Amino acid sequence: MSEFSYFQARGWIEVIVGSMFSGKTEELIRRLRRAEFARLPIQVFKPILDDRYSQTEVMSHNKSAISSLPIERADEIWAHLSPETKVVGIDEGQFFDEGLVSVAQDLADRGLRVIIAGLDTDWQAKPFGPIPTLMAIAESVSKQHAVCVVCGNTASRTQRTGGSNGQVEVGAHENYEARCREHFRPFIDKPHSLIPNETENSISTP
Ligand code: ADP
Ligand code: MG
Repeated sequence: MSEFSYFQARGWIEVIVGSMFSGKTEELIRRLRRAEFARLPIQVFKPILDDRYSQTEVMSHNKSAISSLPIERADEIWAHLSPETKVVGIDEGQFFDEGLVSVAQDLADRGLRVIIAGLDTDWQAKPFGPIPTLMAIAESVSKQHAVCVVCGNTASRTQRTGGSNGQVEVGAHENYEARCREHFRPFIDKPHSLIPNETENSISTP
């Protein structure tokens, strides 16, 4: 089951994970819009460092958007939380500290529906920030997939194609592309998607 559209009287945590371009933000926005149709007051938060497309909106790669509040630390949610809010959406959860886990637990314990989207693995295919713990404690986990830009198969990895060696390097198509397990390289590889008609042989070997 990928979604829970019926009214939840009790709180719980939903996590939406996958590689970059797998549709996590689109799915988060879709669930939040459905909550709005159900007249459930929502609030949306994102890490302040994700200013790729917009500073005040959560925006997907294909430009669907919902307004959000940028925060630095997960526990800032408490200062901004309205008493009426029934559904809390959080995008790019991997960029938050481990404090996101206890904030999500406390919100759910108070009866709120908490929906968190985030990368399950980083550019080296290692578990990313608080997301693995959230996947363990959540009532629902949806694993999304992108399309591998090399072969068109199901992509589960985020290939870095530019920028630094640090775990955090905010970017989109200029620094990243979606790849399957076979075509993923745990180093900065040359971009495949930007070179038209390139064959599989042109990607670097590990
Ligand atoms: P995420 O939040 O997981 O990074 P988004 O929800 O922002 O993903 O964007 C998903 C959209 O990205 C897709 O609907 C599609 O338009 C676009 N997209 C770009 N590259 C790819 C790819 N390789 N595979 C799938 N979707 C892609
Ligand atoms: Mg996203």
